[in-house]
Amino acid sequence: MCYAIPARVIKIEERFATVEYFGQKRKVLKDLLDFDIGDYVYVQAGMAIRKIPHLQAQSILKTWKVLFSKLKNQDESLINKSYSGLRLSKPYDAIIKKIDEKRRLSVTDYLYLLNGVSSDEGKFSQQLANRIRNKYIDNSCCIHGIIEISNYCVRDCLYCGIRKSNKKLKRYRLKLNQILEAVDYAVNSRGFKVLVLQAGEDAYYTKARVLEIIRKIRQKYAVLIFLSLGERSESDYQAFFDAGVRGALLRFESANPKIYSALRPEKKLEDRLKLIKSLKNIGYLVATGFLVGLPNETDTDILNNIKLTKKLKPEMYSFGPLIPHLDTPLASLKKIRLAKMLRVISLARIIDKKSRILVTTATETLAKPAKEKALSAGANSLMINVTPIDFRRLYDIYPNRRSRNIKVETQIARSLKLLYRLGRAPTDIGAQ
Ligand code: SF4
Repeated sequence: MCYAIPARVIKIEERFATVEYFGQKRKVLKDLLDFDIGDYVYVQAGMAIRKIPHLQAQSILKTWKVLFSKLKNQDESLINKSYSGLRLSKPYDAIIKKIDEKRRLSVTDYLYLLNGVSSDEGKFSQQLANRIRNKYIDNSCCIHGIIEISNYCVRDCLYCGIRKSNKKLKRYRLKLNQILEAVDYAVNSRGFKVLVLQAGEDAYYTKARVLEIIRKIRQKYAVLIFLSLGERSESDYQAFFDAGVRGALLRFESANPKIYSALRPEKKLEDRLKLIKSLKNIGYLVATGFLVGLPNETDTDILNNIKLTKKLKPEMYSFGPLIPHLDTPLASLKKIRLAKMLRVISLARIIDKKSRILVTTATETLAKPAKEKALSAGANSLMINVTPIDFRRLYDIYPNRRSRNIKVETQIARSLKLLYRLGRAPTDIGAQ
């Protein structure tokens, strides 16, 4: 639940406005909201979503001013910690020098950062990525909510616990009133300003049904809606956009077409990428990314995954480890270690300095302090699961998901505690 610091509108130009808070200025899109210069607005993912009465905004800003500067100081002090005890090799030093001097790294350099580094060098890379995050995008950390509306899926991806061939799974589908109740709770009781509606590729959700859900949400709630409903026609996505949806979460999973088709029967990478590009052309904010630890995947594949994500210019990177599910054909696959995942996160930050990088729940599930380590290795976004708890347990895409039994209030309290400790402001004023 991004708290979203109220921002004052200082300039308006056609579809865009310039807003300001605590001396920082941002250009934002204004196509979801009417407002004038001098108004206060909440901004999420670079989009103004709600006006705030002046008195209320000023009172919130007063509270934030003290906390915001405290958090910035805390973040600065953590990134400026001394790294003098770490032993770094000459080849590693040479790569770091290239990064400092903004010189181009070779593929060999990148692969060394991904695979060749010692434990000390891995720690140094994470600290470097954290410094880059601070330098280029400061200390804001957006927290989105996710509601898993159905675990039915017509597809049979080999890595996925809710694939259609998993006959052991109890299936569910939220009714419209259940979705609206979950949205009401997330927005009105818990303050979320961005919600992702996620499902498998469920044919029940026809274009008309999805439009009805969107319209009902938009009638009552000032919330930025992301859809994560898998592959749908471009005309469906255009209609959802026209109805007010502004974000789409659609991963490409692997930049290697052979791996992609082997794991997603009857599917081709080129079609997926075409759809992701169409979403961008429609105007969607797109979150995309990949799985780490797929069968036959090499480090070159992982590097290509990061490069492809960057090329797609996403609003947010969403990548996580493959955690093998017992009721899938990949049950016996070995899951990757957190250390490897942290290298991928820090490399993504080094390659794409201004990006938003999500700590996925799959990453959190790898090991206990994963969220803190990922945020300290260059990540800067969190997702909180606000699906009603009885259904959340059934969205079993991989085993033992970290948040499956944890109340929303507890997830929020823990996330805030962690963010404050790390000097991060749980807000998202938008891209620079
Ligand atoms: S990965 Fe997505 S499309 Fe594939 S089976 Fe799982 S939910 Fe369905």
